[in-house]
Amino acid sequence: MSKKVLVTGITGQDGSNMVDYLLENTDHLVYGMARRSSNVNLSNCDTFIDNDRFQLVYGDITDSSSINNLVQEIQPDYFINFAANSFVGCSWEMPEHVMDTNALGTLRCLEAVRRFQPKCRFYSAGSSEEMGDVDYSPQDKAHPPKPRSPYGVSKVASRFLVKVYRESYDLFAVHGILFNHEGLRRGEEFVTRKISKNVARIKKAISKNEKFEPLQLGNVNSLRDWSDSEDFMSGVWLMLNQEEPNEYILSSNETHSIREFVDLAFKCAGINGKWVGEGMDEIFLTQEIDMGGAETRVLAQINKAFYRPADVNLLYGDSTPIREELNWKPAISFENLVERMVKNDLKQNE
Ligand code: NAP
Repeated sequence: MSKKVLVTGITGQDGSNMVDYLLENTDHLVYGMARRSSNVNLSNCDTFIDNDRFQLVYGDITDSSSINNLVQEIQPDYFINFAANSFVGCSWEMPEHVMDTNALGTLRCLEAVRRFQPKCRFYSAGSSEEMGDVDYSPQDKAHPPKPRSPYGVSKVASRFLVKVYRESYDLFAVHGILFNHEGLRRGEEFVTRKISKNVARIKKAISKNEKFEPLQLGNVNSLRDWSDSEDFMSGVWLMLNQEEPNEYILSSNETHSIREFVDLAFKCAGINGKWVGEGMDEIFLTQEIDMGGAETRVLAQINKAFYRPADVNLLYGDSTPIREELNWKPAISFENLVERMVKNDLKQNE
């Protein structure tokens, strides 16, 4: 008989990619949870919304009764919680909301599993932001939690809640620590998508010989370990299907600066540029395109408004254990990822 998987966060990047992955690689029934907002945005759900093995259900992880009801009614074999307030930058603006959604949200899911379906395997979406102010690189599972944002704190709290529930109630509950992952469904407020969308906007303006506003960026020196979300879904599924509930890191095992991402993204659109200046005055200039006016040649510039109150300067993960022990293999390189994102936004901008 088919198993049942409850996935939350299906209007977002990972939840929608997970549903696609499950429908393609298993014969399970997939229940995808969305919030009942006044205008539900299902634009990431086109590929599966009409699939016979998919069912849309409504709930909110800030509302325990809705989570309890879903777990009681569906009796899932797996519960994958991707629902979160996932934008680190916004966590300084609404810290209580972030803690309620991300940390207490995890607790509500764990309680529902414990009370109504304790044999269900539970996945909690951890983050490299838990590493924060890092002690060493690359960061492995033994790295101490040193979060630098309310978001990071909310994920550390989830990690320990999962541990306590696993050990206290013998639940199969894992908190995977995922380094940054992007892709075609990445939310527009995240820096990688902001870059790819702006590259597409600027490319269009250049091709029409129009003036354009430069891309505005915060700290371009931040180093991140970027992968494609689509690659991570198999890693999450492997974690949920091992014999013991071991926790793993998923990462590309590489680190790149935001500056490098910008450089490559413009190159993918056929625009070569170079960084000049220093600090807040640093700008990214076109090398080859003569737009006939100094201001129109600036592709990107630094804007203090996009600096965070406390930044995480370097994220660089070590996912060797899951590669060796569960044979997880990512397929999309950093260069492919940037290219895919830029091409997708160029196409959307046609
Ligand atoms: P995302 O695109 O922002 O998606 C978040 C999802 O959560 C959306 O579907 C959102 O629904 C939903 N949600 C928010 N609040 C909710 C609530 N109270 N009840 C129910 N659903 C709610 O994030 P993502 O990139 O897919 O990330 C998925 C998970 O992985 C998150 O926990 C994130 O923190 C974590 N993570 C992500 C990364 C990364 O690089 N992407 C790295 C590490 C960890 P609406 O559409 O209604 O807002």
